[in-house]
Amino acid sequence: MKTELYINGEWTGSDLEQIDVTDPGSGEVIATIPKGGSNETSRAVDAAEAAFADWKRTTAAERAGMLRKAFHLMQEDADNLAELMTKENGKTLTDSKQEVAYAASFFDWFADEAKRIYGRNVPGKHADHRIDVIHDPVGISAAITPWNFPAAMITRKIAPALAAGCPVIVKPATATPLTAMKIMEYCEQAGIPKGVVNLITGSASDITKVFMEDRRVKKVSFTGSTEVGKMLIEQSAAQVKNLSLELGGHGPLIVMNDADIDTAVRESLRAKFRNGGQSCIAANRFYIQRDVYDAFTKRFTEEVQKMSAGYGLEEGHDIGAVIDEDGWDKIDRHVKNASDNGAVIAAGGKGTKDNGAFFYEPTVLTGVTQDMVIMQEETFGPVAPMAVFDTEEEAIELANDTPFGLAAYVFTDSMRTGTRITEALDFGVIGWNDGVPSAAQAPFGGMKESGFGREGGIEGIEDYLEKKYVAKNIGG
Ligand code: NAP
Repeated sequence: MKTELYINGEWTGSDLEQIDVTDPGSGEVIATIPKGGSNETSRAVDAAEAAFADWKRTTAAERAGMLRKAFHLMQEDADNLAELMTKENGKTLTDSKQEVAYAASFFDWFADEAKRIYGRNVPGKHADHRIDVIHDPVGISAAITPWNFPAAMITRKIAPALAAGCPVIVKPATATPLTAMKIMEYCEQAGIPKGVVNLITGSASDITKVFMEDRRVKKVSFTGSTEVGKMLIEQSAAQVKNLSLELGGHGPLIVMNDADIDTAVRESLRAKFRNGGQSCIAANRFYIQRDVYDAFTKRFTEEVQKMSAGYGLEEGHDIGAVIDEDGWDKIDRHVKNASDNGAVIAAGGKGTKDNGAFFYEPTVLTGVTQDMVIMQEETFGPVAPMAVFDTEEEAIELANDTPFGLAAYVFTDSMRTGTRITEALDFGVIGWNDGVPSAAQAPFGGMKESGFGREGGIEGIEDYLEKKYVAKNIGG
């Protein structure tokens, strides 16, 4: 496969300094990629600018056709792509396959949304006045993406951008650039014209500096940590750059006394351990109502004790590798802080980091309290901390007690209780008896320090469209 930059329809950059791509499940170097910087990013902006004039004039049906082709190409190559993703990211093959299907679904969804960019005609303020509301593509868009979902975080941005008629430049995470390069190949094979999609790997700060300082780049969409998101807000101020930010989460999961425990256990396991817990919408804090606390934690712990962490390409593991040593250390610090302060390690509680390969056992902590670090920070790993509560009001207060507002989960079989709680939670994505709420047709995004903007749904294309209105006097 190609392991280069993709600029103006050409694979390039083998002459640049190279960066190693490492398999976090084995510690082995599996590829090298170019260290692009400001020159290469500026070339990509030149290419996108040249391509924009024709791309925005394509019909919706033409853009839809190419996006649909990319969807099929990705689906047909799903097994290869999943294997590649597991090698560079460390997640299990099952997780990778699920991500490939989810990632491809954005090409499918936005192929149709390309055809639904409607304007509208509004009556004016006088009888002979009319107002036409028109949507234009926002222009050259930059997509900066994280390592934890190396495919879906890219397609969730580029599919709506392309559907809207915008050229894009992708800057994937340095840890997982290979999946991104494969997606460029699908775009190329789908007939997306040169310069319309571009990819730069390399120095994040140099690349982003061009995105922020070049006035031709009209939009920057970022998914990643809240820390970097805040820096981007500052950098965007000089040009009032149009930003969308999908940032960190710290998901609460509430189990009410009247929950169906089978459903609650099954879906909570998915909410916690899918992607090895390295998911922005992972359940990070479990609040269990007192009457079912023992039953739920016992059943949940029994299931976790049957699970194992191991090399993603080996059969039989439920979770794969942790991405790197910093990630592993954070998980371990959260577990140690909880256990030092009185929590009980009911399952797991340790891991290995040998020869550049990082694994942490699926872990359950019981008797956790809100003051422990794990209840205050995003863990990004396979640890389920369980705390008990008594009243619905208390659960809502504990759940909302965070600067983050991405995903939350509630388990109850009562329509009244579920409606009250979901309405009271300050989170952009809520799973009610559902541990995996993400879907291309839903508007994914966060509140508070989890960011702004929505990806997916009918809303996802809005971020790539400028709205303008024309007030017309059709009288004298
Ligand atoms: P990250 O460190 O913020 O990196 C994300 C992207 O930003 C990468 O491409 C990275 O490039 C780049 N970057 C790093 N430093 C930068 C800088 N100074 N200027 C500009 N770009 C910079 O986040 P991560 O560790 O990859 O991802 C984990 C975080 O993402 C978690 O907090 C998770 O919750 C969040 N996330 C959120 C969502 C959502 O939809 N809300 C989805 C997935 C993940 P390099 O790789 O080259 O450093």
